[in-house]
Amino acid sequence: MYSFPRDVILNTKIEDLMVSSDKVAHVQIDNPLEHALLVLIKSGYSAVPVLDLSYRLRGIISTTMIMDTVLGIESFEMEKLTKLKVAEVMNPNVPKLKLDADFMRALGLTINHPFVCIEDNEGLFKGILTRRAIIKLFTKNLHK
Ligand code: AMP
Repeated sequence: MYSFPRDVILNTKIEDLMVSSDKVAHVQIDNPLEHALLVLIKSGYSAVPVLDLSYRLRGIISTTMIMDTVLGIESFEMEKLTKLKVAEVMNPNVPKLKLDADFMRALGLTINHPFVCIEDNEGLFKGILTRRAIIKLFTKNLHK
């Protein structure tokens, strides 16, 4: 007998549902803030992963974090966009899971985070799992 949502949770692999790294907009840790803001605005995402040169996850940066940093007491201090690097502004606490983690753990993390970063056993960035992908999966199975 098919038991929803238990079977969906048990049978779903993170790898099958994630957006693979080649399709994920990201910035490098030593990029100037200006570049990160450009990537965020042009991609349309409110937050993206921050990687280092060896493709390891180092944090998450959002438009709000950048705007909050350049917001002075009375005006925007736009020169900070070129002076500061992503490393100085990003949040280093990344919600992340290994590729082979249980899907249930991903479900738990997406309660508080719009996406979870996925890395392999060597710590290399493999992609992200989004709330959208999870809601889509459950909606599809509800209609079965
Ligand atoms: P969604 O559930 O599709 O709305 O995605 C949730 C969040 O995941 C977005 O607001 C972005 O911060 C991030 N995200 C989704 N897709 C991508 C992508 N292709 N590249 C970078 N970030 C993404």
